[in-house]
Amino acid sequence: MLQIETQAVGPFMKNGFVLWCDRTREGVLIDPGDEIEGLIAFAARHQLAIRHILLTHAHVDHVSGVAAAKRALGVKVYLHRDDEFLYRDAVQHGLLFGLRVEAPPPVDEYYAPGQVIGFGDYEVRPHHTPGHCPGGVCLQIAPKGQRGEDLFVGDTLFAGSIGRTDLPGGDYETLIASIKQVLFSFGDQARVYPGHGPATTIGRERATNPFLR
Ligand SMILES: [Zn+2]
Ligand SMILES: [Zn+2]
Repeated sequence: MLQIETQAVGPFMKNGFVLWCDRTREGVLIDPGDEIEGLIAFAARHQLAIRHILLTHAHVDHVSGVAAAKRALGVKVYLHRDDEFLYRDAVQHGLLFGLRVEAPPPVDEYYAPGQVIGFGDYEVRPHHTPGHCPGGVCLQIAPKGQRGEDLFVGDTLFAGSIGRTDLPGGDYETLIASIKQVLFSFGDQARVYPGHGPATTIGRERATNPFLR
Protein backbone atom coordinates (compact mmCIF):
# COMPACT_ATOMS: atom_id res chain seq x y z
CA MET A 1 0.00 0.00 0.00
CA LEU A 2 1.07 3.57 -0.72
CA GLN A 3 2.20 5.21 2.49
CA ILE A 4 1.84 8.98 2.96
CA GLU A 5 3.35 11.36 5.52
CA THR A 6 2.03 14.94 5.43
CA GLN A 7 3.59 17.85 7.31
CA ALA A 8 2.84 21.59 7.34
CA VAL A 9 4.26 24.52 9.32
CA GLY A 10 3.53 28.25 9.54
CA PRO A 11 3.26 30.80 8.13
CA PHE A 12 1.97 29.16 4.92
CA MET A 13 0.67 25.84 6.33
CA LYS A 14 1.55 24.32 2.96
CA ASN A 15 1.49 20.52 2.84
CA GLY A 16 4.79 18.77 2.15
CA PHE A 17 4.55 15.03 1.47
CA VAL A 18 6.73 11.95 1.68
CA LEU A 19 5.19 9.03 -0.22
CA TRP A 20 6.71 5.61 -0.08
CA CYS A 21 6.37 2.00 -1.11
CA ASP A 22 5.94 -0.31 1.87
CA ARG A 23 7.76 -3.21 0.25
CA THR A 24 10.90 -1.49 -1.09
CA ARG A 25 10.97 1.58 1.22
CA GLU A 26 11.65 3.75 -1.82
CA GLY A 27 9.85 7.07 -1.87
CA VAL A 28 9.40 10.54 -3.32
CA LEU A 29 9.23 13.99 -1.76
CA ILE A 30 6.51 16.35 -3.01
CA ASP A 31 6.69 20.16 -2.58
CA PRO A 32 9.36 20.57 0.13
CA GLY A 33 8.77 23.89 1.90
CA ASP A 34 9.47 25.24 5.38
CA GLU A 35 8.66 21.82 6.92
CA ILE A 36 11.57 20.19 5.05
CA GLU A 37 13.68 19.38 8.16
CA GLY A 38 10.74 17.45 9.60
CA LEU A 39 10.23 15.48 6.39
CA ILE A 40 13.93 14.63 6.07
CA ALA A 41 14.01 13.47 9.70
CA PHE A 42 10.89 11.38 9.08
CA ALA A 43 12.44 9.72 6.00
CA ALA A 44 15.66 8.97 7.92
CA ARG A 45 13.81 7.59 10.95
CA HIS A 46 11.81 5.26 8.72
CA GLN A 47 14.87 4.33 6.63
CA LEU A 48 13.31 5.49 3.38
CA ALA A 49 15.33 5.92 0.18
CA ILE A 50 13.91 9.07 -1.46
CA ARG A 51 14.34 8.81 -5.25
CA HIS A 52 12.91 12.10 -6.59
CA ILE A 53 11.91 15.62 -5.54
CA LEU A 54 8.65 16.42 -7.35
CA LEU A 55 7.12 19.92 -7.48
CA THR A 56 3.43 20.58 -8.22
CA HIS A 57 4.28 24.23 -9.02
CA ALA A 58 6.85 26.87 -8.09
CA HIS A 59 5.18 29.31 -5.70
CA VAL A 60 7.58 30.11 -2.87
CA ASP A 61 5.66 28.15 -0.20
CA HIS A 62 6.09 24.98 -2.32
CA VAL A 63 9.81 25.39 -3.09
CA SER A 64 11.38 27.03 -0.02
CA GLY A 65 12.73 23.65 1.12
CA VAL A 66 14.08 22.45 -2.23
CA ALA A 67 17.67 23.59 -1.56
CA ALA A 68 17.76 21.74 1.78
CA ALA A 69 16.09 18.69 0.23
CA LYS A 70 18.56 18.54 -2.65
CA ARG A 71 21.49 18.89 -0.23
CA ALA A 72 20.22 16.10 2.02
CA LEU A 73 18.99 13.69 -0.65
CA GLY A 74 21.05 14.41 -3.78
CA VAL A 75 18.24 13.38 -6.15
CA LYS A 76 16.67 15.06 -9.19
CA VAL A 77 14.27 18.00 -8.92
CA TYR A 78 11.29 17.97 -11.34
CA LEU A 79 9.14 20.95 -12.35
CA HIS A 80 6.92 21.97 -15.28
CA ARG A 81 8.83 24.24 -17.65
CA ASP A 82 6.10 26.90 -17.61
CA ASP A 83 6.80 27.60 -13.91
CA GLU A 84 10.53 28.20 -14.39
CA PHE A 85 9.96 32.00 -14.15
CA LEU A 86 8.35 31.57 -10.71
CA TYR A 87 11.05 29.12 -9.58
CA ARG A 88 13.78 31.63 -10.47
CA ASP A 89 11.87 34.32 -8.59
CA ALA A 90 11.42 32.35 -5.35
CA VAL A 91 13.89 34.39 -3.28
CA GLN A 92 12.26 37.70 -4.34
CA HIS A 93 8.81 36.22 -3.80
CA GLY A 94 9.83 35.26 -0.25
CA LEU A 95 11.02 38.80 0.48
CA LEU A 96 7.52 40.09 -0.34
CA PHE A 97 6.39 38.09 2.69
CA GLY A 98 9.39 39.24 4.74
CA LEU A 99 10.90 35.74 4.55
CA ARG A 100 14.47 34.78 3.79
CA VAL A 101 14.33 31.84 1.37
CA GLU A 102 17.36 29.87 0.20
CA ALA A 103 17.63 29.99 -3.60
CA PRO A 104 16.50 26.65 -5.03
CA PRO A 105 19.02 24.66 -7.11
CA PRO A 106 18.52 24.36 -10.89
CA VAL A 107 15.68 22.13 -12.05
CA ASP A 108 17.06 18.77 -13.19
CA GLU A 109 14.16 17.68 -15.35
CA TYR A 110 11.03 19.27 -16.80
CA TYR A 111 7.89 17.15 -16.82
CA ALA A 112 7.03 15.80 -20.26
CA PRO A 113 3.65 14.58 -21.60
CA GLY A 114 3.28 10.85 -21.04
CA GLN A 115 6.21 10.73 -18.65
CA VAL A 116 6.31 8.02 -15.98
CA ILE A 117 8.52 8.46 -12.90
CA GLY A 118 9.05 5.35 -10.81
CA PHE A 119 9.72 4.62 -7.14
CA GLY A 120 9.50 1.13 -5.64
CA ASP A 121 6.33 -0.58 -6.87
CA TYR A 122 4.72 2.76 -7.82
CA GLU A 123 4.55 5.14 -10.77
CA VAL A 124 4.00 8.90 -10.91
CA ARG A 125 2.32 10.51 -13.94
CA PRO A 126 2.38 14.31 -14.19
CA HIS A 127 -0.71 15.97 -15.75
CA HIS A 128 -0.54 19.65 -16.72
CA THR A 129 -3.21 21.63 -14.84
CA PRO A 130 -2.53 25.35 -15.46
CA GLY A 131 -4.74 28.13 -14.07
CA HIS A 132 -3.41 28.78 -10.55
CA CYS A 133 -0.08 29.31 -12.33
CA PRO A 134 1.12 28.40 -15.84
CA GLY A 135 3.13 25.30 -14.89
CA GLY A 136 0.87 23.66 -12.31
CA VAL A 137 0.65 19.87 -12.46
CA CYS A 138 -1.37 17.12 -10.82
CA LEU A 139 0.81 14.18 -9.81
CA GLN A 140 -1.11 10.91 -10.21
CA ILE A 141 0.32 8.03 -8.17
CA ALA A 142 -0.45 4.41 -9.06
CA PRO A 143 0.82 0.94 -8.27
CA LYS A 144 2.69 -0.25 -11.39
CA GLY A 145 0.29 -1.39 -14.10
CA GLN A 146 -2.80 -0.15 -12.26
CA ARG A 147 -5.08 2.86 -12.45
CA GLY A 148 -3.92 5.59 -10.09
CA GLU A 149 -6.39 7.03 -7.65
CA ASP A 150 -4.13 9.24 -5.52
CA LEU A 151 -3.83 12.79 -6.85
CA PHE A 152 -1.43 15.44 -5.52
CA VAL A 153 -2.95 18.58 -6.99
CA GLY A 154 -0.90 21.46 -5.56
CA ASP A 155 -3.02 24.63 -5.29
CA THR A 156 -5.39 23.80 -8.15
CA LEU A 157 -8.18 22.34 -6.01
CA PHE A 158 -8.85 22.38 -2.24
CA ALA A 159 -11.48 20.77 -0.03
CA GLY A 160 -14.38 23.19 -0.57
CA SER A 161 -12.39 25.74 -2.56
CA ILE A 162 -10.20 26.31 -5.61
CA GLY A 163 -6.80 27.89 -6.19
CA ARG A 164 -6.45 31.66 -6.48
CA THR A 165 -5.94 33.03 -9.97
CA ASP A 166 -4.85 36.60 -9.19
CA LEU A 167 -1.11 35.85 -9.08
CA PRO A 168 1.23 36.25 -12.11
CA GLY A 169 0.24 33.83 -14.88
CA GLY A 170 -3.01 32.82 -13.15
CA ASP A 171 -6.25 32.53 -15.13
CA TYR A 172 -9.71 31.65 -13.80
CA GLU A 173 -11.20 30.03 -16.92
CA THR A 174 -8.03 27.97 -17.39
CA LEU A 175 -8.18 26.79 -13.76
CA ILE A 176 -11.82 25.68 -14.02
CA ALA A 177 -11.03 23.85 -17.28
CA SER A 178 -8.07 22.07 -15.63
CA ILE A 179 -10.27 20.91 -12.74
CA LYS A 180 -13.22 19.80 -14.86
CA GLN A 181 -11.33 18.29 -17.79
CA VAL A 182 -8.23 16.85 -16.10
CA LEU A 183 -9.02 16.23 -12.42
CA PHE A 184 -12.67 15.16 -12.81
CA SER A 185 -11.58 12.62 -15.45
CA PHE A 186 -10.00 10.48 -12.71
CA GLY A 187 -13.43 9.60 -11.31
CA ASP A 188 -15.33 10.22 -8.08
CA GLN A 189 -13.40 7.72 -5.98
CA ALA A 190 -10.01 9.38 -6.65
CA ARG A 191 -8.38 10.77 -3.51
CA VAL A 192 -7.20 14.40 -3.68
CA TYR A 193 -4.27 15.73 -1.64
CA PRO A 194 -4.20 19.54 -1.94
CA GLY A 195 -1.26 21.84 -1.25
CA HIS A 196 -3.08 23.31 1.75
CA GLY A 197 -5.66 21.87 4.13
CA PRO A 198 -7.20 18.40 4.38
CA ALA A 199 -7.45 15.65 1.77
CA THR A 200 -10.73 15.12 -0.09
CA THR A 201 -12.08 13.15 -3.07
CA ILE A 202 -13.10 14.10 -6.59
CA GLY A 203 -16.65 12.90 -5.84
CA ARG A 204 -17.00 15.09 -2.77
CA GLU A 205 -15.73 18.19 -4.58
CA ARG A 206 -17.87 17.54 -7.65
CA ALA A 207 -20.95 17.31 -5.40
CA THR A 208 -20.29 20.02 -2.82
CA ASN A 209 -17.58 22.49 -3.91
CA PRO A 210 -19.39 25.85 -4.34
CA PHE A 211 -16.88 27.03 -6.95
CA LEU A 212 -17.61 24.08 -9.24
CA ARG A 213 -21.40 24.22 -9.47
ZN1 LIG B 1 0.49 28.24 -5.26
ZN1 LIG C 1 0.53 27.07 -1.87
